[in-house]
Amino acid sequence: MDIPVYSPEDAPVPKGEVVVERLSTPAELAVKMSRTTADVVRFMLDNGEMVTSTQPLTDEMIELFADDLGVKIKLVAPGQEQEAELKALLEIDRGAGGDPQPRPPIVTMMGHVDHGKTKLLDQIRNSNVVDGEAGGITQHIGAYQVRRNGRSITFIDTPGHEAFTAMRARGADVTDIVVLVVAADDGVMPQTVEAISHARAAEVPIVVALNKIDKQNADPTRVMQQLVEHNLVPESWGGDTVTVQVSALENIGTEDLLEHILLVAEVAEISAHNDGLAEGVVLESRLDIGRGPVSTLLIQDGMLRVGDPIVAGSAWGRVRALVNDLGQQMREAAPGTPVRVMGLSEVASAGTPFTVAPSDKVASKVAGVRGYWQRVASLGKDVAANSGGGRLEDIFSEIKAGSPALLKLIVKADTNGSLEAIRDSLGKIVRDDVSLSFVHSGVGAISENDIALAKTTDATIIGFNIRPDRKARSLAETEKVEIRVYEIIYKVIEDIESALLGLLTPTIEEEVTGEAEVRAVFRIRGVGAVAGCYVLHGTIRRGDKVRFLRDGGVIWKGAISSLRRFQDDVAEVRSGFECGIGLSGFSDLKPGDVIETYAEHEILPT
Ligand code: GDP
Repeated sequence: MDIPVYSPEDAPVPKGEVVVERLSTPAELAVKMSRTTADVVRFMLDNGEMVTSTQPLTDEMIELFADDLGVKIKLVAPGQEQEAELKALLEIDRGAGGDPQPRPPIVTMMGHVDHGKTKLLDQIRNSNVVDGEAGGITQHIGAYQVRRNGRSITFIDTPGHEAFTAMRARGADVTDIVVLVVAADDGVMPQTVEAISHARAAEVPIVVALNKIDKQNADPTRVMQQLVEHNLVPESWGGDTVTVQVSALENIGTEDLLEHILLVAEVAEISAHNDGLAEGVVLESRLDIGRGPVSTLLIQDGMLRVGDPIVAGSAWGRVRALVNDLGQQMREAAPGTPVRVMGLSEVASAGTPFTVAPSDKVASKVAGVRGYWQRVASLGKDVAANSGGGRLEDIFSEIKAGSPALLKLIVKADTNGSLEAIRDSLGKIVRDDVSLSFVHSGVGAISENDIALAKTTDATIIGFNIRPDRKARSLAETEKVEIRVYEIIYKVIEDIESALLGLLTPTIEEEVTGEAEVRAVFRIRGVGAVAGCYVLHGTIRRGDKVRFLRDGGVIWKGAISSLRRFQDDVAEVRSGFECGIGLSGFSDLKPGDVIETYAEHEILPT
């Protein structure tokens, strides 16, 4: 028999902050904490968790153990500790690249919904062809460039701060300048303020575009006053916020806006190396039947060339083709340029940093190691989750027991970018009493598989810019799976927020609606015992819920089955009138008893 070996109580513990990978097993955690595996397993048992030495632990279990020892820990993603080594591998022989040169600024439009972000983006895109450069056909690749007097500006195609924040959350600060679109007829609105905060948090300069100045009720001065309250003081008033009046609809002021963006870029000295190995961020990616994974990359530094081996997360490959936003094939792409790239081994999520590796071998090795850890993480998560409930029955009892309720979602979207944005925004909805969990999320149409998964996990399906195919739709109908499709991220959030409210157990509030006194009791054939009553207060309605009181005590609860005045069945009787009341399933009536009717209102928590 194995005799478990425990460390002495006063055995020394590691000093300082200890980095622990999520989903570590007791064996791994033990090494980090200078304890034996048996110590960890026994501790878990003492705390009601049965785990084996090789089973992944949840964050809470790990934290509990560390707390008990008094060790400060930092939880990191599985494989994270190796990431530093992998990065070092990628840095080998990376060319220095000479002095930095000015590069095109990368611009994101933000602002309140309907203030004209999309219209302005479209207008600027359309104006591009005028510049006389060899024009191609505009491609929607997630970003586009406009050229003016030999200089370029790159616009991110997904406006709004959801996408912006989703990218930032993944560590990708791609935006150099934020254009804050404010409708001159509507002024500063909640999302305008949010956008300002996001831009400030990212320390990105803001250029204000006062849009819709063509409208009769446009009042730019009033809006500028509102902006001052948020510390955006227009240059014309002596401040340092570039403010341009535009009409996206009538194409007024857009050239002026572009010039000012270039000026701001110059002041901010946005620059990059024009040679050396490229690095940047995956803007969006999707699976193209026939061509495989197709990604839009935004190059932040260095020159990207056809044939370069690149790594993005766990995806890698040689750049097979580079296509710009005008659909033109390129041999190389400079910093600040968005390019569509083919050749990656898998679809990399939006916001994933990419880098050119010194060789194919390094690229495949780095991607392979990362892929391994990702699989560990996703497998481990299931194991860790299953060991601590998460099944449907558990959730019902959880809700009953007053612990947080859980809304499960399957999210499908048209691009990785929108998927990330939705997940990120939904993740921000935090309540103590309800939580969200993503059963699955992915790019592509809502399929029969998704319906099956939703059915088994009791999840709701959210579709963004995509719809279920015919088969999936009919399966959803027979399986009673709920599908909601959207085209605006903001709407998704709004809806889910109200769905979460719906999940909360409402408090039931009672209101007494009527009171009648029993004055006589008689029998009617076919109806049974009937109380001849006088309505003292309120109104008695047929079908009302009833409390039957005798000497002040409730002796029965139920409902009214019949209500009559004279020979007629009536729907209600008001106070001051006589009536006959029959109760369903109760006949022990005596004069002097009181029939109290009441209504129940559900009060939803807000
Ligand atoms: P977004 O939600 O910020 O992307 O707003 P949209 O670009 O979709 O614009 C919302 C609505 O405002 C659309 O009906 C546009 O046609 C309209 N719109 C946008 N810009 C202007 C403008 O400069 N003038 C006027 N009159 N309408 C505009």
